Amino acid sequence: MSGDFDASTWGSGALLGVTMDVLTPKIADITAEGISLSGDLTGEELGLTDADVSIRGPLAVGLDLRAVDRTICVTGVVEGTAIRQCVRCLKEFDESMAFSIHVAYEREVKVAPTAAKRIDPRKRKETPALEAEPEEPNDDLYYYVGDHLELAPMLREQLILASPMHPLCSDECLGLCPRCGKDLNDGPCRCGEEQTGSPFQVLRTMKAKLRDPGKH
Ligand SMILES: [Zn+2]
Ligand SMILES: [Zn+2]
Repeated sequence: MSGDFDASTWGSGALLGVTMDVLTPKIADITAEGISLSGDLTGEELGLTDADVSIRGPLAVGLDLRAVDRTICVTGVVEGTAIRQCVRCLKEFDESMAFSIHVAYEREVKVAPTAAKRIDPRKRKETPALEAEPEEPNDDLYYYVGDHLELAPMLREQLILASPMHPLCSDECLGLCPRCGKDLNDGPCRCGEEQTGSPFQVLRTMKAKLRDPGKH
């Protein structure tokens, strides 16, 4: 530590607020060279609800923050364990999760958001190709007000974006029988016996043979 910290800024609350500092870094502390933040954050600290993403234990979050002009670029990695529900068999399973963060923060200007985003018609004429393609920007853009960033809402959103739309406990999950509801991963149900000639049954048998050609 290079002793240029003013001791008075290290008040009595500095040690108590470690987690708070990770999630709400001060803009003034973020330099062009960048600063690094890391910590283990719970779902509660991130404002996660079970409707968002369920996580098991805290998430390890490591972020680099860098000031580029008036924009703050945030990159990093989030790792942890999510509790998913398989869309086929409905069982809950743990899934280890690791994804990268690549977002930017800009100061929120006190203008109506529609006015700020309105496209200059002259610009539109100059660059018709760019405007025509609604290309996804590389960095998701967030806004800050006041003197610090609020990282929790961004992390929560990135966590949701990184979650699969249709989680599967395994690619081979057989799911539930649509007739009796039995979990077919635990073995076949009786419904199949009545319907041995059904196209689905034939297909399933074919698939199984293709998957393990040597075992049948
Ligand atoms: Zn499953
Ligand atoms: Zn069945």
